[in-house]
Amino acid sequence: MKKEIIVQKYGGSSVANIDRIKIVAKRVLSAKKKNNNIVVVVSALGDTTDELEDMAFKISSNPPEREMDMLMSTGEQISCALLAIAIKELGHNAISFTGNQVGIRTDSSHTKARIETIECERIRKAHQEGKIVIVAGYQGVSVENDITTLGRGGSDLSAVALAQAMKADVCEIYTDVTGIYTTDPRKVKNARKIKTITFDEMLEMASLGAQVMQARSIEVAKRFNIPIHVRSSFSKEEGTMIVKESPKLEEIAVRGITCNKNEAKITICSVPDQAGVAAKIFTEISKIGANVDLIVQNVSHTKHTDISFTVPKTDLAKAFKTSQAIAKKINAGNVSKDENVARVSIVGSGMRSHHGIAAKMFRCLADNKINIDMISTSEISISCIIDQQLMDKAVKALHKKFELDKI
Ligand code: ADP
Ligand code: ASP
Ligand code: MG
Repeated sequence: MKKEIIVQKYGGSSVANIDRIKIVAKRVLSAKKKNNNIVVVVSALGDTTDELEDMAFKISSNPPEREMDMLMSTGEQISCALLAIAIKELGHNAISFTGNQVGIRTDSSHTKARIETIECERIRKAHQEGKIVIVAGYQGVSVENDITTLGRGGSDLSAVALAQAMKADVCEIYTDVTGIYTTDPRKVKNARKIKTITFDEMLEMASLGAQVMQARSIEVAKRFNIPIHVRSSFSKEEGTMIVKESPKLEEIAVRGITCNKNEAKITICSVPDQAGVAAKIFTEISKIGANVDLIVQNVSHTKHTDISFTVPKTDLAKAFKTSQAIAKKINAGNVSKDENVARVSIVGSGMRSHHGIAAKMFRCLADNKINIDMISTSEISISCIIDQQLMDKAVKALHKKFELDKI
């Protein structure tokens, strides 16, 4: 008889302390009793990764990325060893591995490495010996034999990639909420749990701020069509299935609301309105590796125009400096920056076939006296840049307007 392979990933809050690790050990064992081969991926305990990062930034404002990976990957090594000890204490055989030990090979882009291959030999051997395998999430190893990390939230990616490599039957993501909600249930009390959501919708929600799943992990799940079950590690309740197609897709235009404060706005005033100027500006900005997202160019009446764009806050300092230098070169005016902005977005595949969604969103913000600074759309989302202080109010208002509290 074919043995089932299950990948389970437990997030930081699920392994935040010793008592929780013991609970996870029991949960893993109950899955082991029903199925045969288990791979468990763990995140670092609670806020360990943030604490490690803080320590480095107390020493340097620009710590070397290779050393950051050496440091930040240690959190997962602690949790995977502790979970293996907890499972053994319950009388079952288990073995913990680092990313390197199970052959998670990545490129060399430290702090945001891409997985290239996973060997799986050691996992298979351990399974043959009847062991439960625990893998440290968020990490791999480069061709130089250096430890790499997969970007924040990267244990989700470790789990999905291992599910693909092991041809697992299920990939379960255990977290501190009972599934994917119409919006962050910690911010909006009447947020509703979504039963099934498509890869496209989840990818959009994750990229636009729903931190419950790492966006890159959904890209991989989509590419290889790996269904994911997001559920709570504290209850037995069924969670949310992330799948290729959702049965109710046609009926629902807006599936969820997201928000984030990760971006900042830069404005270059009085830019000469000539061909090639925008190209010059954004070529220089791209050279420093800043990811420009939203761009707005005001209508010109005076042969000069204002250009505003957003960049991740982490890139703001260098993007601002570069913008000032370009402004001088092209005879533009002042350059200003604004960190007090937030992005609120509505997401849903049904938008493709529904009209008036954008108008409804803008009307709702207007009725709530929320000014829209910039707008961006994709096939399945609409985002507005607004005042950061009004972000939570906007999310609540949109959630109500699109009747997401009634699904
Ligand atoms: P883990 O430690 O398990 O990886 P995270 O903190 O990364 O957990 O993600 C879970 C958190 O994501 C939840 O506590 C919740 O506040 C937040 N979240 C944001 N948006 C959503 C959403 N739409 N649905 C569910 N959770 C969300
Ligand atoms: N511990 C890492 C982080 O906090 C990876 C993860 O939890 O997924 O980003
Ligand atoms: Mg996470």
